[in-house]
Amino acid sequence: MEKCLFCKIASGEIPSKIIYDSPNVMAFLDIKPANPGHVLVIPKEHFETLPELPENLNSALLQVVKIITQAQIEVLGAQGVNVLQNNGEIAGQAVPHIHIHVIPRFKDDKIVINWAPTELKHEQLDEIQKRLISKARELATGEKEAPKQIEETPQAPEPEIKGKKKLLRIKPRNP
Ligand code: AMP
Ligand code: ZN
Repeated sequence: MEKCLFCKIASGEIPSKIIYDSPNVMAFLDIKPANPGHVLVIPKEHFETLPELPENLNSALLQVVKIITQAQIEVLGAQGVNVLQNNGEIAGQAVPHIHIHVIPRFKDDKIVINWAPTELKHEQLDEIQKRLISKARELATGEKEAPKQIEETPQAPEPEIKGKKKLLRIKPRNP
């Protein structure tokens, strides 16, 4: 089967400006960046959308996203960072290989990430909560249960935290 564009980038068949390369995850500069320093983080193996990503890559992927975010703040002087990920064509996914956009933000840049907020009635919010809550619990725990009235939010196991590192805060450049 023909490899996708990002599979070819992951294997080195197509060149890219690599920022970070680990056995399972790679980060490289977006060829048409929203801002200078816009990075894409991908699993090297081909998965199309986020729900397909195997559990064992969750933290590896997020760890690289976090590293890139911190590098953009410290080295590029980003005053904020957007982390975006599109799933499916309708959501704006052009390349069908999971990729996370890490976009450094600067004061007065021209990026617009926006939507028109809608207003839902409480009953509508309740209905949506009801439809999602038991599936989220099932996906988190593997246990299926009959839908019931909302009593509590699903409790998923906390991810393991290996070692503590200093937390980086984004400081405004000109406070
Ligand atoms: P999306 O619309 O979320 O699928 O984003 C796809 C991104 O891939 C876009 O921001 C493109 O600029 C970027 N892109 C496409 N081809 C390449 C490439 N050869 N190297 C680096 N980035 C690419
Ligand atoms: Zn691929």
